Amino acid sequence: SRGAEGNFKTLQVRVLILEIEKILKQTFSRAIEIRLDIPKQNLWNISGDATQLHQVLMNLCINARDAMPDGGILKISAKTFLVDNNYARMNLDAKVGSYVMITISDTGTGIPREIIDRIFEPFFTTKELGKGTGLGLSTVLGIVKSHGGFVNVVSHVRGTEFQVCLPITETIE
Ligand code: ADP
Ligand code: MG
Repeated sequence: SRGAEGNFKTLQVRVLILEIEKILKQTFSRAIEIRLDIPKQNLWNISGDATQLHQVLMNLCINARDAMPDGGILKISAKTFLVDNNYARMNLDAKVGSYVMITISDTGTGIPREIIDRIFEPFFTTKELGKGTGLGLSTVLGIVKSHGGFVNVVSHVRGTEFQVCLPITETIE
């Protein structure tokens, strides 16, 4: 369909990630090592707007790159994630069912605890003037929610992990 909700089509998660990998290899410095961890055979289908989902993954990859000014490892992985009753009760954006969890992780600065509650706010940025708009993560959240999904962030001492979860419409083994 086409309209305010975008142009939703059946998409293969594997293809989506390979398209992003190609862009990253063409545009990111060699100091950023790109690693993929996606199953070779399993093909998950989701329903979504490819342009919007490219934007989601690119925004997260650009943040990962920006968090590693001296280089590091950017890893994209995908696996299935089952939302059960308990999880759905804790996370109001999650509904019971099968999701694909696409994880973008970096070995960068990490996110200080004092700001982690604010990072999805529009215009919140810690980057210097001209380097960031603070709109990346609020856009990510808006698009993922419009796809029936949710986003988790896990901050480590060294590095950060963003988990984008999208409902699976079909699994082809
Ligand atoms: P911008 O990138 O323009 O600053 P975002 O909405 O994309 O805006 O991100 C908001 C803030 O969240 C960033 O300024 C940064 O402080 C923090 N952030 C986001 N992703 C990461 C990451 N991978 N590592 C460390 N900090 C991050
Ligand atoms: Mg950003």
